[in-house]
Amino acid sequence: MKTKRILVTGGAGFLGSHLCEKLVGQGHDVICLDNYFTGRKKNVERLFDRHNFELLRHDVTFPVYVEVDQIYNLACPASPVHYQYNAVKTIKTSVMGAINVLGLAKRVRARVLQASTSEVYGDPHEHPQKESYWGNVNPIGVRSCYDEGKRVAETLFFDYHRMNKVDIRVMRIFNTYGPRMHPNDGRVVSNFIVQALKGNDITIYGDGSQTRSFCYVDDLIDGMISLMNADDTVGPVNIGNPGEFTIKQLAEEVISLTGSKSKIVYQPLPSDDPKQRQPDITLAKERLGWEPKVGLKDGLVKTIEYFRGDLEL
Ligand code: NAD
Ligand code: UDP
Repeated sequence: MKTKRILVTGGAGFLGSHLCEKLVGQGHDVICLDNYFTGRKKNVERLFDRHNFELLRHDVTFPVYVEVDQIYNLACPASPVHYQYNAVKTIKTSVMGAINVLGLAKRVRARVLQASTSEVYGDPHEHPQKESYWGNVNPIGVRSCYDEGKRVAETLFFDYHRMNKVDIRVMRIFNTYGPRMHPNDGRVVSNFIVQALKGNDITIYGDGSQTRSFCYVDDLIDGMISLMNADDTVGPVNIGNPGEFTIKQLAEEVISLTGSKSKIVYQPLPSDDPKQRQPDITLAKERLGWEPKVGLKDGLVKTIEYFRGDLEL
């Protein structure tokens, strides 16, 4: 494989750090850009002494000037707690971040991949979700800063592609979990594991009948790199694990795998919380030859092991 110069925005976050590690391991020259809003230097510290890794403190809402061959645009808080903390900033990060990476890609003729999301489908009326589904998104709710920000980013990607021939890839990521999620991230897998390990109550929002499909991080990163390097597929392409579980099932699995004495408590369901979510991954299978390999139980075991170390329990 030819060595490339690669920019990863949001590289010190959960997914970004795994991506940087894989790309550095493949011998590429990697620039990890992050403003450390939800990311941590600790996530990439094992790469500090590698000659082909560089860290850049920068906010993606401002233009960035680097010479690269590929750009992975991951910069954006992903957990509802964090993206709602400063909703206006979240929209700026998605929209101005997209304009800045697309402008850069246009100038230096780089290929640019957008980390989009299953949230573009909103609270879906089609199940499972195919890429052709336009979604059911509330434009003025508490999740809109993220959902609509990501939808506009997709629009920008396709407009730069049509108008300026920018070489784009758009990936729709479904709920992904694994080591290096922040313990206070607020997303369901990390919340439940941290609560179970500390012996605290497991907080189910609503009655726990809503579903999600959980993808282990290693599978996700393989799908992301495959899409970036696919020659004839622009996307959007769903990348996720079609195994669908209720949130109650997830809570019970985490309790059983940790051997925790925590009890389940029910709290109000946040507004616009999607009732069901499951990717149709036919396109990824056909175009990329990709499908996930790690089942929920195996992935949870690895993630629990990580959190035991991270929390020093
Ligand atoms: P994360 O919060 O761990 O990582 C996001 C990173 O972006 C962090 O390091 C954060 O500091 C950085 N960042 C935020 N705003 C920035 C800004 N203005 N300038 C520079 N850096 C900024 O989340 P993650 O799970 O690693 O998600 C990475 C990307 O994947 C996000 O774009 C997210 O929307 C997308 N995604 C993730 C999931 C998932 O389940 N993990 C699902 C769908 C989409
Ligand atoms: N959730 C929950 N308890 C928690 C955190 C989340 O029951 O402590 C629920 C949340 O309401 C949603 C699902 O788990 O129905 C997934 O939430 P997450 O924030 O991980 O992702 P998203 O809603 O963006 O898919």
